[in-house]
Formats: sequence, structure tokens, C-alpha cells
Amino acid sequence: MKFLIVGCGISGITLARKLAENSHQVTIVDEKDHIGGNCFDYFNQEGICIHKYGTHIFHTENETVWRFLSRFTQWFPYQHEVKALIDGQLVPIPFNFNTIEQLFPMEMANRLINALLSEFPFNKKVPILKLRESQSKDLQYLADYVYEKVFLHYTEKQWGVRPEDLDPLVTGRVPVFMGRDNRYFQAKYQGIPLEGYTAMFEKMLDHPNITILLNTKFDKSMSKDFDHCYYTGPIDEYFDYKLGQLPYRSLRFKFLTFNRSYFQTNSVVNYPNNYDFTRIGEYKYFLDTQCGSTVVSYEYPEGFSLGENERYYPIINPENKCLYQKYLDLAKGIDKLTFLGRLGDYKYYDMDQAVSRVLCLINKLPVC
Ligand code: UDP
Repeated sequence: MKFLIVGCGISGITLARKLAENSHQVTIVDEKDHIGGNCFDYFNQEGICIHKYGTHIFHTENETVWRFLSRFTQWFPYQHEVKALIDGQLVPIPFNFNTIEQLFPMEMANRLINALLSEFPFNKKVPILKLRESQSKDLQYLADYVYEKVFLHYTEKQWGVRPEDLDPLVTGRVPVFMGRDNRYFQAKYQGIPLEGYTAMFEKMLDHPNITILLNTKFDKSMSKDFDHCYYTGPIDEYFDYKLGQLPYRSLRFKFLTFNRSYFQTNSVVNYPNNYDFTRIGEYKYFLDTQCGSTVVSYEYPEGFSLGENERYYPIINPENKCLYQKYLDLAKGIDKLTFLGRLGDYKYYDMDQAVSRVLCLINKLPVC
């Protein structure tokens, strides 16, 4: 069969590969001038791999996803650790026992850790909004502190709203950790593609059944030459915004190069309470590149506006979910059309979830 895939990001590329391996002809179109969508990266002259759309760290518990991608890349065994500037100190995030010991006097730190351990098991992850429900005086104090110093101002910058006005899963991505593991993710499989994401995607797309058309804007008349169209772009755009726009948050990156070995202590440093940016990423850490210069990006959140910037994050709330559902109902009336990906499904997918979504879809397809 002949398939059209709109969008050459991680979802579209995964789907293209799987369909091609099942002997189908695939054409993939993207209006951008490069493959990889927002996961695109490139190497600068000094050999630093730069993520054009901000830091991307791959992590998954899903063995099937890991094994699938590992056919196309080796991995640098990078374990992500983030620091945040809180009360003038660079401390580990997610907030954990080490963070407590760095920020509070010893006796007080011991008391807070004991209070945590009397309510929660060691090494458990507890979302901040859950911790705030504790009845213990000590834990109420700690929860208010973490809420204020880690989440409140970061979230206001990032989303323009308070943490409790977001889907709880968003702040739940960075839970308070009842242990000493300073890593951002505890997933079994973590890493950065050894030659970058773009090289991994090139290998995935390197198949005789796949044709790639970049700098090519989709228009509906293209679909008629195909048996089915998979659309990974924004669902509201497909329908010419006829029910209104689905809201997104966007980001603006300021990239700077310095002639010094390192700029900061970690690949990512968060600034919840200072400045207008949320975090600074330093790219040479991801593949442990040894060279005399370094590249960083300052990350400034902003609202998404059509034609002016990129969509990065769907804003998941009941109203927006309802609007998305209405678009999905429209889509159900159209034959031979499926939406997927962060923009097509309007879901805050991590990279592994985007791949998993496609692998599940493929397993259900009668033609695969
Ligand atoms: N967050 C926060 N302070 C932090 C880190 C994260 O308030 O220091 C909140 C914020 O609302 C953010 C969400 O947790 O949008 C998820 O963070 P994550 O690092 O997973 O976001 P991503 O890397 O996807 O932008």
C-alpha cells in the first residue's frame, strides 16, 4: 500500500520505518528544511552536538522502544542530573534528601528527612501537590518551601499559570524524591544517541521504500494519491482552525558560545526564582565532548502565536481537552486519516512515548 506521513519528527520517522519494513511505500513530507522535528541536532565545528530546539535526553522503561531505537544508534550512557539555583545554592533537582541537607541546618534537615520517612517509603516519588496534602506540621513547612522555591515561579514562567492550575501530571514529572538519587530520571534505559539524534533518524529513514520531501507544506489534495494519511502536525491546523486554535506554550532559545572549557557545573541548571529564563542547557555534557569552547542555550518560555514561533507544549486542561476531542470527532468522519504525535494527539509525549504510540498503532494495523 501507499502511505503519506505528514511531519518528519520522531513519530513520523518511526512510523515510516515500520511501514517500510512491512513492504509499504511511504512518502513523508515536512515543511521544515530538516528531519527530526524538534529533536533535530547538529554538530558545530568543535564537535559539540547541539539540540536546536533545546535539550533532549532519552529515557525509557519500555524495553521494546529501547530495542527498536537501538537498531539505529549506539548510546552514550548519559545519566541526567539537574541542578537548580535555590537560596543562592546549586542544589539537586528533583528535590531529594541531598537537596534538604544542602539547604537546611543539619538538625533541621534530619528532622525533615525523618518526617518524610515516617509518611513515605524510602526511594518513593511524591508529586509536590500530593506532599502539600500532608497533615504533619514539619511536612507542611517543607512542602510549602519546595512548592515556593522549586515549582511556583518556574511554573509561572514556563506556563503562565500556578502549579495547581495545570494538569497534575505536569509538575508530577518532577516529583520530590524520598532518597539520595540525584538523577532526573530513574528509568532503566537512558542515554544520548552516540552520533546524535539526527544521525539516528537518518538511519531510520534509510530504506528504499521511504521518500522524504522536505520544505514541503502539506495540502489536502496530496492525500488522494495515497491509501492512508498519517498526520503528525497540529490537528487544529488540519481543520483550518474551524473550531478555534488549540493553545500551546512556546520557547525562545538564546544560544551563546564561550571560549572556555565549561560554563556551568551540569548539562542543565534551572533558575526557578531568578531571571526570565527557566534554565540554561550546556550541550557538551551530553556526549562528554572534550574541546576548548562550550555552547549553552538560555530557555525563555513564551505563549505560542501562529506564524511567529513554534509549538512546544500542549496546554493540557479540561477546556483544551474538550476542544481537542471536538477536532477528533471531526477526524472520525474522514476516511483514511489518522492523527498522532505530540501535536496530532495533543499530548505532552516524551520521546519514548511518541515511539511507543507508533509501535502500538503498527501492531494493530491489519496490513502490518
Ligand atoms: N518544574 C518546576 N521547577 C523545576 C522543574 C520543573 O516547576 O525546577 C515543573 C514545571 O511546571 C515544568 C514541569 O515541572 O514545566 C515539568 O518539568 P520537565 O523538566 O519535565 O519539563 P520539560 O523538560 O518537558 O520542559
